[in-house]
Amino acid sequence: MRLVNHRGRSGLDIAGRFVDLEEHSGGRFSSDPMSTFGDWDAIRSFASEQTATGGCPLVDDATLGAPVPNPAQVFAIGLNYRDHAEEANLPIPETPMVFTKFPSCIVGPNAEVPLTGNRVDWEVEQVVVIGRETKDVKANEAWGYVAGMTAGQDISDRRLQFASKPPQFSLGKSATNFGPTGPALVSLDEFEDPDDIAVRCWVAGEQMQESRTSNLIFTVPQLIEHISSYCVLLPGDLIFTGTPGGVGSVRDPRRYLAEGELIETEIEGIGRLSNRCIARGR
Ligand code: ZN
Repeated sequence: MRLVNHRGRSGLDIAGRFVDLEEHSGGRFSSDPMSTFGDWDAIRSFASEQTATGGCPLVDDATLGAPVPNPAQVFAIGLNYRDHAEEANLPIPETPMVFTKFPSCIVGPNAEVPLTGNRVDWEVEQVVVIGRETKDVKANEAWGYVAGMTAGQDISDRRLQFASKPPQFSLGKSATNFGPTGPALVSLDEFEDPDDIAVRCWVAGEQMQESRTSNLIFTVPQLIEHISSYCVLLPGDLIFTGTPGGVGSVRDPRRYLAEGELIETEIEGIGRLSNRCIARGR
């Protein structure tokens, strides 16, 4: 099942056509993208019976919003790919390095990204969407608490991220529109192996990152076990699972996002984000 947020309404993407959940279920399900988690199993069953014939074409990606527009909590993981830790000259973490992106930065797959300075960087990330309340869940049961996955960009202002000592990541990763997500929330059954998915990123047409989630240092189930042993995860919460090597701040020479450049972020089985960098204040 591919769930999308089309002009603020929740629906299915079936072969490129939009099937509005509320309209096509005769009001059984809400159009609110945040309300789907309570009805997840029923919506999946409903989705399996739908065909694209009744929907309207999703011709314009600009109409798509974040699949989970108002998550209560957004977790993100630092240094969760070995090659990224190595390129940053930092030791491989022994426990997951968890920080937050404040939820107001979460936007849709084609949102413009106002640059907050001249040291703003890209990070392709697979994003896990929690499906139900999760507390003290062991890794071997953790996938059962996941609704699905989406693609994410963990846009990062490196100057702000490292402005204080010790560094505080959250604000530098939470500026306006610094959390593009989408284009769909894809349920787990759509993935042959949810622990092995290709992730890629291009900037201005040049490929910058390519890896697979099988290279994660801490797997999705391990992350859920770790985080849920300390705090309750809620339906719709997002976990940005970390970025592989190839970010701009550790390249030689360093390479940062410039006004007018397009960031393209692709996760296998989910789709692509296309985010144009613009001047701040427009
Ligand atoms: Zn990141």
